[in-house]
Amino acid sequence: MTPLLLILSAPSGTGKTTLARRLVAAHPGALFSVSYTTRPPRGDEKDGVDYHFVSRERFEKMIAAGAFVEWAQVHGHHYGTPRTSIASAASLVVFDIDVQGGQAIKKQHPEAVRALILPPSLAELERRLRARSTDDDTAVRRRLHAARIEIGVAIAAGYEYWVVNEDLDHAYADLDAIVRAEGCKAGRRPLAPDLGIP
Ligand code: ADP
Ligand code: 5GP
Repeated sequence: MTPLLLILSAPSGTGKTTLARRLVAAHPGALFSVSYTTRPPRGDEKDGVDYHFVSRERFEKMIAAGAFVEWAQVHGHHYGTPRTSIASAASLVVFDIDVQGGQAIKKQHPEAVRALILPPSLAELERRLRARSTDDDTAVRRRLHAARIEIGVAIAAGYEYWVVNEDLDHAYADLDAIVRAEGCKAGRRPLAPDLGIP
């Protein structure tokens, strides 16, 4: 069975990592695509779990070796999706990547599904970023400015779904519904041979 490639994009602080983790935990056979990044770990992030934290030199060697299905520079650091995520045997692969990364994967894998996670408002996004207290004031302002641009770009890029993360349980139920519906798409699941359908 080909895995469902689910790309989640959102302005930083919207809650996509929280939602992506919950989705993977709730679906047996699901895989979270762990990206490589040159940014240093934040808070209690763990190497190999949240990201593979690597040096700029190692990242460049991986680009040269063709190890990434896509890579991009975001907020001054490099981020890349390993090809191994796409080739995995999982039934669902969840990507927590930015809009340009989502575009690049969609181009190579048109069957991929992209969901844009939106904050209920810019004011609430600012509140969450400050509550997370992993960024200083300048970084919060930079992320808010980037958020407005990223939302516009994602909408123009034709993201298939919009999920507003006001209430976490509600947003999760929406994402779960998307996964269920996509799993029922014609041709997604193999049928019993005795049904005689090629
Ligand atoms: P992202 O991965 O988009 O940067 P996170 O998942 O790290 O965002 O979430 C940012 C912060 O907002 C975290 O502190 C998280 O617990 C909180 N958060 C996520 N969703 C909600 C929600 N629906 N309501 C309130 N706080 C939320
Ligand atoms: P953060 O530093 O907040 O973890 O991530 C910053 C941005 O980089 C987020 O929008 C996140 O989704 C994006 N990102 C994370 N991994 C990748 C990746 O492998 N490729 C791309 N293009 N973006 C990524």
